[in-house]
Order: sequence, then structure tokens, then C-alpha cells
Amino acid sequence: MQPHNQFRFHPQVIQIGCYWGEGGHTDLYLLEGDSLAIVDAGVNDTPTKYIAPALEPYGLKLSDIDIILNTHGHHDHTGGNGELVDASGAKVYVHEADARIAADPDYQFEFCFAQRHTLIGHPERLDAARASLKVTAGRPTPVDVQLTDGQIVDLGKGIQLRVVSTPGHTLGSVCYYWEKEGMAFAGDSVPGFGSRPGGFPLICYPAELEQSIARLLELDIRAFALGHHYRTLTLPLDSIHFAGNVQAYLKESSTISKMLGSALYKAAAELPDAGFFAVAQAATDLISKQVPVTKNKDGLAVTGSVEVLYGYWQLLKSKGQAAVEGLSH
Ligand SMILES: [Zn+2]
Repeated sequence: MQPHNQFRFHPQVIQIGCYWGEGGHTDLYLLEGDSLAIVDAGVNDTPTKYIAPALEPYGLKLSDIDIILNTHGHHDHTGGNGELVDASGAKVYVHEADARIAADPDYQFEFCFAQRHTLIGHPERLDAARASLKVTAGRPTPVDVQLTDGQIVDLGKGIQLRVVSTPGHTLGSVCYYWEKEGMAFAGDSVPGFGSRPGGFPLICYPAELEQSIARLLELDIRAFALGHHYRTLTLPLDSIHFAGNVQAYLKESSTISKMLGSALYKAAAELPDAGFFAVAQAATDLISKQVPVTKNKDGLAVTGSVEVLYGYWQLLKSKGQAAVEGLSH
């Protein structure tokens, strides 16, 4: 087990990094208002393994945490909810559109992760994948507060967070925006080029992601705090972008998503009679001519590939040529 890392980058905010599985790393953020809140809880055993030791130097314990602010429903952000609620009685906040995947690991698997196997014709892989998710997703944990866009979460001591709905990675992804300090806690809302080398970003709803990025570009964000160290094309590899790099990160994330989309459209045009899997493989080949891609045994990128390419495939099937033209505008 690697030690946690922690970083106080504001008098009331501490970043806590935690590890899980093979190469998994999630960044959590402790917010010290009158209420002690944590943005995301990591996987099933993150609270005892990583959060508790990170709190210790500040004289704090897991039982002091009042609120869990989940940025979205995925297991590497909500899996620790159960352990943390058991230790503290903290209330769980999640956007209403992700409440069910956050509370119910079985539903999360079916809704979010089964398609990466079924869409490429490998249902025999489902059982192992389901069992693996059931570990990191922790115990089913009810959501106490279902958030909606624009809602204010007031933690006291000047920390007022506005819920900004930013779907794209999941439907219920949010940024918690602390306007006074120009700080946004984004989780995986804008996933750059993904966090794993050679992989693709996990974008399930590319059209929604574009709208979310456009919305974030309108806000005065001077510190953009992410859930992972997302790669980009040109920016430093970090989980928090500051000042001018915030706009650059948002714009690059849009560029990356569109690059994946245009490869999918090009491959589909070249293979008009092929199904999704063959087109996705051809698109991956095209992308690998532009950036380094680590392929798995299916000829796809090691992470995120089925979701983002299928997201664009669906746009192509529903909107046709208009979707392709939309990319260049
Ligand atoms: Zn996620």
C-alpha cells in the first residue's frame, strides 16, 4: 500500500490522494467549514486506509466528517461512502441523476459498466467484472440529499458551494463551485485524455460533455480540482489546474473528445456496412496515428474506449451528418 499524499492548497481545503486496485488513484478534498465535508470518498476501504491517516495531523478523525459531497456515482468516488457513514454518520449528497448508481452497486454495474463488454460481444466477461466492481463499490449506501442544478450547499465559515450540473462522464456529474474563491471541485466531469497512459477518457455522453464544458468556460474558475491526474495534450499532469490553465484544460478536453469523435465518424464512413465493434477498432487505429494508444486484446484502447466511441456512434446514428458537421463548428 502506498502512503496517502496530502496537500493544503487553501486555508480551508486539503487534497487527499488515495490509491486502489491496480494503478487506481483518486483525489479527495476536505473542506473545513462549520461542517466538515469531504468531496468524494474513494473506494470501499479508502476511509480507513487513506482518509483517517490524512486527517490525523490536523487533529481530526473520520467521525468528525459531517457531509460526503459526491461529484458523481462511480465506485471510485462513492465506494467509501458506506465505511465513512459507518464511522461518522455523515450525510451523503449526490446529484439526483446519479443517486441510484451511487446507492446501488449492482445497478451501477448494469447501467455504467456492463456495456463495455456486451457492446463488443463478450457477455462471458460480465460475471468477473461485476464481482470486481462489487468489491470497490463497497456496501449499498443510501443517498441522503439528492442535489439539483443551482442548489447551494452552505458549509459555514464562508464556504458556499453551488451545484453546477456537468453531465458527460455520467448523467449526474456535478462541479461544486465555490464562487467567492473561484474554486470548482469537478470530480471526473471533464476527463481530459483520461488518467491511464494510453487509454481514452471515460465519456459516456459526448454531446452533454460539450455543453458542460461550454458552461464551465463561462464561470470564473481559478482552481479546477479534479478527481484524478488527467492527462492532456500539452498541460502538466496534475489533478488541480490553476489560473490560465483552467480554461486551457477545459478547451483541451473538448478538443480531445472531438478528436475521438471525428475518428469514429471517419472510420464509420470508411466502413459503411460494419457494426460498432469493427468501426471502433478502425477508429482506434486512426487515433493511434495521432497520439500514443495502448491497445487491449480487443484492439481498443485500454480504458474508456467503448464508452466514448459508442457515445459518438449513437450521435451518428441519431443525428447522421449533422453530428459530423457539429464537430467542426
Ligand atoms: Zn467516474
